[in-house]
Amino acid sequence: MARLEVTNLKYRYPYTERLALNNITCTIEPGEFIGVIGKNGSGKSTFSQALTGLVPNFYRGAYGGSVKVDGIDVRDISVDDLCQRVGLVFQNPFNQVTGSKLTVYEEISFGLENIGVPREEMHKRIREAMELLDITRFADRNPFDLSGGQMQRMAIASIIAMNPQVIILDEPTSQLDPQGSEEVFRAVQNLSKNGITIIMIEHKMEKIAAYSDRVLLLDDGEMVAFDTPQAVFSRDDLPQHGIQAPAFTRIGRGLGLTCPSTQFYPVTLAEAQEVLRT
Ligand code: ADP
Ligand code: MG
Repeated sequence: MARLEVTNLKYRYPYTERLALNNITCTIEPGEFIGVIGKNGSGKSTFSQALTGLVPNFYRGAYGGSVKVDGIDVRDISVDDLCQRVGLVFQNPFNQVTGSKLTVYEEISFGLENIGVPREEMHKRIREAMELLDITRFADRNPFDLSGGQMQRMAIASIIAMNPQVIILDEPTSQLDPQGSEEVFRAVQNLSKNGITIIMIEHKMEKIAAYSDRVLLLDDGEMVAFDTPQAVFSRDDLPQHGIQAPAFTRIGRGLGLTCPSTQFYPVTLAEAQEVLRT
């Protein structure tokens, strides 16, 4: 069974005229790393809210089609229940920290305490989450003494401890420096290798190209493309949708050189090197 099954999804916010999502259909498997791209206002955040069920259970508005998580329609389960299945990570790690906990370990325990997880089980889950996000060595540190990248990984660990099947990250590296961004992408890739489905909304195309299994391109609430990074970034119409392909792709296009293995322009440094060597 698909992890996420989106069928003819349409959505309009209350008191607005335009569809924020217009007839989106896609299927996403367990452990897939999906990059979501599109210019501002294209519907990326709304799409992620539809996957968490906040659209339409919380935001209301006009809704058509369906979103299923592991076969269950998001309208048929409570927001609380769904929040445990589908975790949401936001732009600014500062806004996600409780501010009331003295250590990273306690910070990660917060959500688990709220849902009444037994002590032993809680300890196990926190340890595993810290391992996965590579922050075990910061367990006793004050959350506010972490770097941006470390703090964002702590925020992700808090969500991982809740055992979600899907994690949605809405521009999680926009406040981070290049090193912090790379740390977050690596950590998130590690989660996908552990079977967690990743929905990553990002403007850094080089990173999306390097880490995504498939890329979903939205414009004006519509799905323009949903394919491999190579296929999506080789499209001729990207500028019309407000997207600039990775530098490696633009170089390949400029020189008219495609990868022998994919027949598309290169999207990563490794692929560009492969093309230039042959
Ligand atoms: P993105 O995340 O790609 O920048 P959004 O999903 O935030 O795009 O927005 C998609 C469209 O929905 C935009 O036209 C935006 O103005 C509109 N929109 C977003 N949030 C709301 C809201 N709470 N109420 C009304 N309209 C909204
Ligand atoms: Mg957004």
